[in-house]
Amino acid sequence: MDRIIKGIMKYRQCHREGMVKQFKQVKDHPEPKAVFFTCMDSRMIPTRFTETNVGDMFVVRNAGNVIPHSQHFVDELTMCEPAALELGCVVNDIRHIIVCGHSDCKAMNLLYSLQDEEFASKINRRISPLRAWLCAHANSSLDKYRQLKTTGFNQPMIFQAETPMRKFVAYIDPDDKFAVEDKLSQINTLQQLQNIASYGFLKQRLERHDLHIHALWFDIYTGDVYYFSRGNKRFIEINEITEKPLLKEIQKYYS
Ligand SMILES: [Zn+2]
Repeated sequence: MDRIIKGIMKYRQCHREGMVKQFKQVKDHPEPKAVFFTCMDSRMIPTRFTETNVGDMFVVRNAGNVIPHSQHFVDELTMCEPAALELGCVVNDIRHIIVCGHSDCKAMNLLYSLQDEEFASKINRRISPLRAWLCAHANSSLDKYRQLKTTGFNQPMIFQAETPMRKFVAYIDPDDKFAVEDKLSQINTLQQLQNIASYGFLKQRLERHDLHIHALWFDIYTGDVYYFSRGNKRFIEINEITEKPLLKEIQKYYS
């Protein structure tokens, strides 16, 4: 806690005044541009690697950047993630949702170790809510990973996109640069696009192309950020060479 209190004191001295000015600037016209789902991992600081600031994004974080599929909710049962989608996309009319996974994700590493179905079926929710969360809501990612593994990792995968008619193809780590757990993390990131699109309250916006869902992936070891390019069917590193073609693709797909 010392670290936090000292940090708050430093913030008071160095950044508070500037932030209050920014709060005033956006007060009457807050126009956040994205709902950003990412992992709660302490190494992930999305506002830093996207250089975003006050008023730019709604950020939702949890273990493994998982957005439960709507099929898990009946009647009054719900969770934070769909509520965040409604607050962002319906109440605030935000038009872009971004899901950002990362390498060496502790939640994905654990999910990878939960492949033993018998072991997974015996998980006690009260003893390990984390394992229960992953088994309930990230099992679809694990299923897709298993499918990919049986084909030797080089076959294309198909994910459902914004509407049942829109699908996209993905080659996962075609250059075989990453560990198996990281491949699972990339699959899991893409799986969330499908899960987000399952919510009925977003249906009209998605059908009218008023709402778009993107995937990013952050490599903790190199600091590189990847964007899932539907045109290239893979995660592409965002850098000085790829920036323009990626922006062009985004305009083409999402304008
Ligand atoms: Zn993580």
